Amino acid sequence: TNDWMKVKRVIVLMFRWRNKEPKRALFSTKELETAGKKVIKAVQGLTFDLESISKRPKGDSLLQLQPFKDDEGIIRVGGRLKKSSLQIELKHPIILPKAHPLSKMILRWCHIKAAHSGRGLTINEVRTSGYWIIGISSLTRSFITSCVLCRRFRGKKCNKRWQTYQKTDWNQNLHSPTLQSTCLDPLQSKCEGQL
Ligand SMILES: [Zn+2]
Repeated sequence: TNDWMKVKRVIVLMFRWRNKEPKRALFSTKELETAGKKVIKAVQGLTFDLESISKRPKGDSLLQLQPFKDDEGIIRVGGRLKKSSLQIELKHPIILPKAHPLSKMILRWCHIKAAHSGRGLTINEVRTSGYWIIGISSLTRSFITSCVLCRRFRGKKCNKRWQTYQKTDWNQNLHSPTLQSTCLDPLQSKCEGQL
């Protein structure tokens, strides 16, 4: 799977199974957060070595972020903002390795959260979600170029509809009849006619 939510749910199920917890359908925010952090910590442990960070060349992208480990052992962006009053997620985002499958998965999740927006808004969504992906600019560019939905709907003809789609709250309007009469139905393969 390449879906960040699915991965977190699977990890939660594994924990519940290991702890012999009773079966239940809902996943709590706390459970999903803990599961996500486990995955992030494992990936960071495999890709970043903070012990040898001082030996990295001066312009190194990780070194420039002045990384540090938080109380839970998660590697975050350090630096100047330390004293600001922003939440920890925003002032010290979690650092993710360049082009790693996990980074791509989180980027995809944020791109969908941002309603398939362009590069700037997608990157902004990643930041406000509390992540700092190294090399995010080029990663996002190639990711959006390869996004099937974006490719399908970004053509000139569909621009207006695309803007409507981006403003749509899918959770609320999933079964709205107005959507079905436009080309906004993702299951519809072609985009024909005018709005
Ligand atoms: Zn897209």
